[in-house]
Amino acid sequence: MDSLHDRVAIVTGASRGIGRAVARRLAAAGAAVVTAAREQHAEAAAAEIRGAGGRAVAVSVDVTDPARIDAMVRTALDEFGRVDVLVNNAGIARDRLALRMTLADWEAVVTTNLTAAFTCARAVLRPMLKQRSGRIISVGSVVGQMGNAGQTNYAASKAGLVGFSKALAREVASRGITVNVVAPGMIETDMTAALGESAQSAMLTQIPLGRLGLADEVAAAVCFLASDESAYITGHVLAVNGGMYM
Ligand code: NAP
Repeated sequence: MDSLHDRVAIVTGASRGIGRAVARRLAAAGAAVVTAAREQHAEAAAAEIRGAGGRAVAVSVDVTDPARIDAMVRTALDEFGRVDVLVNNAGIARDRLALRMTLADWEAVVTTNLTAAFTCARAVLRPMLKQRSGRIISVGSVVGQMGNAGQTNYAASKAGLVGFSKALAREVASRGITVNVVAPGMIETDMTAALGESAQSAMLTQIPLGRLGLADEVAAAVCFLASDESAYITGHVLAVNGGMYM
């Protein structure tokens, strides 16, 4: 598989879970990858890719800090000369019923999951517009489509990604840049492990395919939207949810 040969991708939240699987898959398809996470957390992901014969560099970035986002994009340009793909994957959850949710919990989730997607996209737009090509893919959630009690902040941030992506898709379509969302259901990662077994079992009853998804199954959808094969798809929400929401 060499469909992303000579392409350069930035993946936020690439230290573990879905982001790491995305970075691994993009690299296996031939892309050079900038793995981004806080502190030195994304070093191992980059080292793993290099160990497998791919090209990768890790950057330390908190996506809520716009100055670090500019530095992340500069790293991609300095190291690999271009930016073709941005995957907005970094995300957090701070679950609590709305009545008890603090403004700090609301703001942390919306800033990390939604505002950072805007600042990251804005930072890659200039090189992509110049190249007249690009792929911006944000990792949303089934929760942004169907809602979930205890997750008003998370649901709002993920639904916001859809509106943001559709609006941006219209702004940049004429320049060969597509903007899409991949909306996973329940995927086996640290984020779902944190829910505990009883919440996970309750969730399973709502999934027609009868199991949690794998990070690599989400990565496959992201990789497709990053490839030339998806050139005529923009403003789309691609669900990877085992039928949890149709
Ligand atoms: P995860 O295992 O908890 O990993 C989260 C990733 O985001 C980590 O790499 C983390 O990096 C990074 N991150 C968080 N805050 C950051 C910040 N301020 N700056 C930079 N990086 C930050 O989560 P996951 O399950 O793989 O989820 C990845 C994405 O998929 C998220 O957007 C999540 O909302 C979405 N999603 C997940 C599921 C699911 O079932 N797992 C379902 C639907 C959607 P650090 O190493 O720096 O912490």
